[in-house]
Amino acid sequence: MQPIPRDLSGLTTLRLPARAAHFLRVETELAVAEACALASAQHWPLYVLGGGSNIVLRDDVPGLVMHMALRGIQRCDDFSTPTQTVIEAAAGESWHAFTQHTVAMGLCGLENLSLIPGSVGAAPVQNIGAYGVEIQDVLHSLRAYDRQHQQFVELQPSDCAFAYRDSVFKSGQPGRYVITAVRFAFPVGRLLQLGYGDIRAELEAQGVVQPTPATVAQAVMAIRQRKLPDPNVLANAGSFFKNPVVPRDQVKKLHEQYPNLVAYPVSVDKPEWQKVAAGWLIEQAGWKGVRRGGVGVHAKQALVLVHEGGCHGQDLLALAADIVASVEQRFGIRLEQEPVIWP
Ligand code: FAD
Ligand code: NAP
Repeated sequence: MQPIPRDLSGLTTLRLPARAAHFLRVETELAVAEACALASAQHWPLYVLGGGSNIVLRDDVPGLVMHMALRGIQRCDDFSTPTQTVIEAAAGESWHAFTQHTVAMGLCGLENLSLIPGSVGAAPVQNIGAYGVEIQDVLHSLRAYDRQHQQFVELQPSDCAFAYRDSVFKSGQPGRYVITAVRFAFPVGRLLQLGYGDIRAELEAQGVVQPTPATVAQAVMAIRQRKLPDPNVLANAGSFFKNPVVPRDQVKKLHEQYPNLVAYPVSVDKPEWQKVAAGWLIEQAGWKGVRRGGVGVHAKQALVLVHEGGCHGQDLLALAADIVASVEQRFGIRLEQEPVIWP
């Protein structure tokens, strides 16, 4: 196990320039444990890298970057029953490829999460979500290396402190766990989630009368391909800001001034709070399509910041800071960044 210095720019979807002082690609759980031990022994900060689709490289990374390359997908006979199938995927598997694998098996649950970039191991980190489905709705359990106790552990959904784009892995105890495998439960009879965004309209446009996981996955992919920049063509990290959750009274006041304000209930157990569409706030503040050198705000979806090349992480973060300040000044709402910043 010999880490090497490495250029990271091609390993994240924002393609910002930065180098890792030490870099290791790990393909087994043993290699994960050894890399964690090495980082501790050398007093190097450890950075776990999946597909790099939710990371902003602010500068060179001084510690050890561990690139997760564990592979394998299998049915878990121990957990599967006549009423549910459980499938396990290793952390380094492509998330999108895994969703299509389960869809091809006829399993219902991950179709709304099609075409999200990145790896299986990172999916629980921010409790990825799209079109009304989040990882917490489908997670059975996961396996992780606990750096605090230097051993592998099994975690249940109740251990993960899942919240909106958040979990114990992202903000609760960041850096403590390295996720090596994730299991998903597919109960027989789970219903398709069609009530979100444009899914129903897209299915209708495609002439689908009786939706299946496969046709819903196709619909989600078609919508995403129309609205979102492909990171292989235009560098980006998806939504740069979370949708802010604000008191319902504040939303009511804003509605009087801005009747088109886009806001949704957060959940039935939090009636006093509403989720405001951050993309709408940014667009209203005049940022949609704005370019500043090689960084900018996407012309079709203001929530996505893009990097056309030649810029540094600081340039992107300066643009993000100006967007936050202008939205706060206009609406009194402070946006919170979604991707993680290294170092
Ligand atoms: P990385 O970017 O490599 O890492 C992200 C964080 O997770 C880092 O802190 C990293 O240290 C940590 N991490 C990675 N792997 C592990 C592991 N095995 N164990 C412990 N920690 C780990 N997100 C959504 O929620 N919904 C969307 O619809 C969505 N759409 C997107 C669309 C586009 C075009 C893009 C570019 C991004 C989108 N994202 C979306 C954000 C991103 O794809 C997800 O957050 C994804 O899960 C990140 O996976 P990754 O492997 O690229 O993680
Ligand atoms: P959209 O459908 O245009 O909707 C705009 C916003 O309104 C979304 O952020 C969504 O919140 C919210 N929304 C829409 N319908 C809703 C409903 N029925 N109930 C509650 N909230 C509703 O959004 P979009 O930009 O095209 O994205 C579609 C989906 O993909 C969204 O779920 C979005 O989160 C996800 N996505 C995420 C990323 C990322 O990087 N995190 C990138 C691209 C797309 P939510 O965001 O809370 O769902």
